[in-house]
Amino acid sequence: MRIDLHCHSTASDGTDTPAELMRNAAAAGLDVVALTDHDTTRGHAEAVAAVPHGLTLVTGAELSCRLDGVSMHMLAYLFDPREPALLAERELVRDDRVPRARAMVAKLNELGVPVTWEQVERIAAGGSVGRPHIATALVDLGAVPSVSDAFTQEWLADGGRAHVEKHETDPFEAIRLVRNAGGVTVFAHPAASKRGRTVPESAIAEMAAAGLDGIEVDHLDHDEAARTRLRGLAGELGLLVTGSSDYHGSRKSVQLGACTTDPEVYGEITRRATGAFPVPGAGGV
Ligand code: AMP
Ligand code: ZN
Ligand code: FE
Ligand code: FE
Repeated sequence: MRIDLHCHSTASDGTDTPAELMRNAAAAGLDVVALTDHDTTRGHAEAVAAVPHGLTLVTGAELSCRLDGVSMHMLAYLFDPREPALLAERELVRDDRVPRARAMVAKLNELGVPVTWEQVERIAAGGSVGRPHIATALVDLGAVPSVSDAFTQEWLADGGRAHVEKHETDPFEAIRLVRNAGGVTVFAHPAASKRGRTVPESAIAEMAAAGLDGIEVDHLDHDEAARTRLRGLAGELGLLVTGSSDYHGSRKSVQLGACTTDPEVYGEITRRATGAFPVPGAGGV
């Protein structure tokens, strides 16, 4: 069984539509794929309708959180997308991405880059708008050679010249909201230090005590030393260990299934969740 529990579509900053993502996941030989767009479940319906035979879809989202000034991401799986409190928080974060992106465009204009909000809006195409869309605009304008080159202090990295913060949820609140909506939480890429500051292990321990279910250990932004350290921490804290690609289509070089999750861990996630069920492709698995 090949299980990839972290993928983005055009509902946020990926480049595959949800239906294309389902087809590409099957073509990549995956048995299970999770759709985890940033702060939105708007891709779910299209993905559910497109799951091919032999593939199972896990619905989810990647929630933008912040702890003591450090931005972090919380993967949430199989929650009830209609549960009002989590829905309201998701919409608050997603909606705040718009004025925030406009403010980043204004900062870039001050820095002499002629990017426009209309251009970014066109690239985001209705998806939950984020820095990768602005980065794509910078690539199109020739300001940077690639999307990842826009994530520097000169441009869009945390604290960078053109960076603007958005509303982000307290992770303890996110854990509570997801749990109340019947979902399961996994702290995404907790040691991805090239993206900015990371939260200390003591905070992960506090989150575990507050009901965090797992941590994403196998992720391309973690080197071997970080994975070993995180695996040990998960063992100490009784946390589930996942591995995933964090696929973004052509916006990033990572391929579907680049990292995968143990079937037993996947089974445990599905047993804990009560808000939604995995969706097997037509014909059953
Ligand atoms: P935002 O949610 O708008 O703050 O943008 C965060 C997203 O930008 C992350 O989910 C990644 O997809 C992307 N990102 C963050 N850091 C980097 C980086 N160093 N290189 C490429 N993409 C990044
Ligand atoms: Zn992303
Ligand atoms: Fe993330
Ligand atoms: Fe992600």
